[in-house]
Amino acid sequence: TVRVRMAPSPTGSPHVGLARTALYNWAFARRHGGTFVFRIEDTDKERNTEESYASLVDLFGWLGLDWDEGVEVGGPYGPYRQSERSELYADVLTRLRETSSTYDCYCTTDEVDARRKATGSKVMGYDGFCRELSEEQVAAFRAEGRRPVVRFRMPDGSITWDDLVRGEITFETAFVPDFALCRANGDPLYTLTAPVDDATMAITHVLRGEDLLSSTPRQLALFEALKAIGVAEQTPAYGHLPYVMGEGNKKLSKRDPQAHMALYREQGFLPEGLLNYLALLGWAIAADRDVFTLAEMVETFDIGDVNPNPARFDLKKAEAINASHMRLLGAEDLTARMVPFLQGAGVLSDPPTEAELQVLGQAVPLVAERMNKLTEAPEMLGFLLTEEESFTRDPAEVEKVLTEEGRAVVQASHDALAALPEWSTAAIEAALREALVEERGLKPRVAFGPVRVAVTGRRISPPLFESMELLGRERSLARLASATS
Ligand code: GLU
Repeated sequence: TVRVRMAPSPTGSPHVGLARTALYNWAFARRHGGTFVFRIEDTDKERNTEESYASLVDLFGWLGLDWDEGVEVGGPYGPYRQSERSELYADVLTRLRETSSTYDCYCTTDEVDARRKATGSKVMGYDGFCRELSEEQVAAFRAEGRRPVVRFRMPDGSITWDDLVRGEITFETAFVPDFALCRANGDPLYTLTAPVDDATMAITHVLRGEDLLSSTPRQLALFEALKAIGVAEQTPAYGHLPYVMGEGNKKLSKRDPQAHMALYREQGFLPEGLLNYLALLGWAIAADRDVFTLAEMVETFDIGDVNPNPARFDLKKAEAINASHMRLLGAEDLTARMVPFLQGAGVLSDPPTEAELQVLGQAVPLVAERMNKLTEAPEMLGFLLTEEESFTRDPAEVEKVLTEEGRAVVQASHDALAALPEWSTAAIEAALREALVEERGLKPRVAFGPVRVAVTGRRISPPLFESMELLGRERSLARLASATS
């Protein structure tokens, strides 16, 4: 049975690369009826924050990538925070020290650097100096008060694996230096904790970013040692997901504002839209298709189809895909998602009144086709929901459109509509076309632009005639009148 995991470190704000990794793991688990584990790699006390942990849990909850085991939900392999697993790591370390797969190392980084300079070696990292220390040398180091780190002894030869995404990969171990498993004070490092957790949580497939590719030969070697002491049963399969490139074809980094997941929620992306876009960063459902649901992804996702080449992050495309998902939602669902954004902008009561809900029920279907993100809702619908005394127009639009000529058009519209016996979309449209296009000879764009700004205060709005019907005769006429004065 498939067991996969995401294993973020709670530092900073969760980024897009992590969300893509989580999504692929989740989809892989769901496709194969497996288990998706959420563990937290918080051994770096200096850099971890509770705030970051909270935002991980919060944002993954928002995305809807539910985890079967892990933080907040528990499970048979817990605890799922590494900071609560210290005893396990200490125990494994003790047992590894009893084997020849590790050795105690007393060197300082300065000493290692100095030796590298002296020999002109190009291999970075540790040079194996302490591999075969004599008892006298150990005693001498100890007498100096040095405390050792435990280092893993990389085997000779090469390490090869069949990467689930990239095919066969081989590392010569001559270029993979012996690595430390803990600090001198005994605190375990990522190099130890991640493979020990993958082993003890029975992870079957490790799907993670390409930035971790170089740690895989070490983890594979360590797995052999963990099997030898009975901590691991099987080595997981590994698959490395492609880099995500941002502006200027550079790796999307934490410094790019668009790398942060929180931004997408704030900007009114739907989780469905964001997930669909993230799925495309290295995978395609079909050659000619960009928009799909999570359920469709689960039916089709195959890790072997992931493209090993870097994926390009494209915010415009993300918005277009989000827009498609806004259209896929039913009006009721879309309305419910807009409500917090309308309330945040102060144009809707909390809770909404009956009257407001009625306006929304009629207006939302009119705007669903015209929006990319939920944050556009107040712009689009605010004019219908605000009281007359707090209705305002975009000053730039007023200046541009409500010129003397524009105001004359608005006055003519007012006169044509004031006498209208029936207040309906069709009647409003017919009256305005007659008064402005036929009698005054105006092009529709020239004619209706000033009317739109007069009534909605915006250049972009729901369809004009429908909007006026919804707004009602009295309010529409009042706005037309106030725009001419
Ligand atoms: N904790 C690691 C990170 O935040 C992930 C390690 C892994 O997936 O093996 O990048």
